[in-house]
Amino acid sequence: MKVFRAESMDEAQLKEFASRPRVDFTSILGTVSPIVDEVRAKGDAAVREYTAKFDRVQLEAVCIPIEEIPEPALDAETQAAFDLAFNNIKTFHAAQAAPPMEVETMPGVRCSRLARPIEAVGLYVPGGSAVLPSSALMLAVPAGLAGCSTIVLATPPRPDGSITPEVLYCAKKAGVTHILKAGGAQAVAAMAWGTQSCPKVDKILGPGNQFVTAAKMLLQNSEAMVAIDMPAGPSEVMVIADAGADPVHIAIDLLSQAEHGPDSQAVLVALPGVDVDAVQREVERQCDLLPRAETTRRALTHSRIACVNGKEEAAKLSNWYAPEHLIINCDDAASWLPLLQHAGSVFLGRYTPESVGDYASGTNHTLPTYGYARMYSGVGLDSFQKWMTVQELTSEGLQALGPAVAKMAAVEGLDAHRRAVTLRLGLSSPDKFD
Ligand code: NAD
Repeated sequence: MKVFRAESMDEAQLKEFASRPRVDFTSILGTVSPIVDEVRAKGDAAVREYTAKFDRVQLEAVCIPIEEIPEPALDAETQAAFDLAFNNIKTFHAAQAAPPMEVETMPGVRCSRLARPIEAVGLYVPGGSAVLPSSALMLAVPAGLAGCSTIVLATPPRPDGSITPEVLYCAKKAGVTHILKAGGAQAVAAMAWGTQSCPKVDKILGPGNQFVTAAKMLLQNSEAMVAIDMPAGPSEVMVIADAGADPVHIAIDLLSQAEHGPDSQAVLVALPGVDVDAVQREVERQCDLLPRAETTRRALTHSRIACVNGKEEAAKLSNWYAPEHLIINCDDAASWLPLLQHAGSVFLGRYTPESVGDYASGTNHTLPTYGYARMYSGVGLDSFQKWMTVQELTSEGLQALGPAVAKMAAVEGLDAHRRAVTLRLGLSSPDKFD
């Protein structure tokens, strides 16, 4: 891992420190665009074709109402773990429901805001290199809570054409309505356009590889009329550690991010007293123990360490980098919060590894990567809703507000707007323009 010294970092080094592994979307779009067009034109037949090509599975049914799939059998311990995660995720996301808001902006003028579910949503649960039932929970639980009436869950099928039992278990428990047995761009396109068996959705959410991300980006700007959750890049973690942090824990937190994929990024910000050499040795030693050591080692080639002189400097670097996950492995970790501006999800203290948020603490693991934590939030209940605003004026309210509205409409030269007010106030005649 490359080591930077914060005190001597110039602008170029700061940029290098915050840079992520580059994703070349131009060539990926060249692959994805014909897939998206084929699925639009041929529907299920194209999904079958691409699933045979990329996943080597001959599909019979493409998208199936979930009640037609038998309940999966899980062993008791696995089921208990997913049940615990389900409950915590549900509790945290249910608490995000905002009550209807109503205010009187001036006497006789009432304004309110009401949440309404997005009717049909598509959830992408990755399944290429690893099966991710946790992503099924993170997406389906808030979708169910929000009241979405059609919830399609897409995930690549297993070699025998079936769906991973844990994904199915989570999907059924959370209220998913359809399972689309497909991955990659063809799955995203099927949900965006709709096919013979797959309902068309209004919004697509969830992480995925570069083909999934490119298809989402392409389709949100197309005639498909579909929204997406956020732009996504490879996953990343920043660990801020002080002298009291155990190098073993620092190392395993860095590795738990690096094992996601070769383009993942792990960054350590070391406060004075952290034995950086000991951390590097631990990273090497523990990496060798992991079954995914080869992938993990590739991710470590573009991971880095910054040595800083104090808290302010560390927080500044963190805000500059805007990490998806931020671990504060420091004394009095909560005191860092006022200094932090940009991070997808924060893990405070000695006993809060990123893993707990990835699976079961209750927070969502679908988070902005690639520095997008500067302007995007992670997935939450409101990702499955939109707000409808309402206003209602009394006669007195219009008397008070109307003249200002009429004046502003006149400034903009929109006379029908002006007269919609003045006619109600008896200030204009319906028979002649004035
Ligand atoms: P995936 O399900 O995203 O992609 C698999 C699909 O890609 C296959 O079904 C196939 O159809 C398609 N594909 C494969 N090769 C192709 C090719 N050459 N051309 C066109 N399509 C092709 O699974 P994955 O590949 O394992 O990727 C999962 C990604 O999700 C990883 O990058 C991981 O880091 C990310 N992830 C992110 C988060 C987060 O919250 N940020 C969480 C979990 C996973």
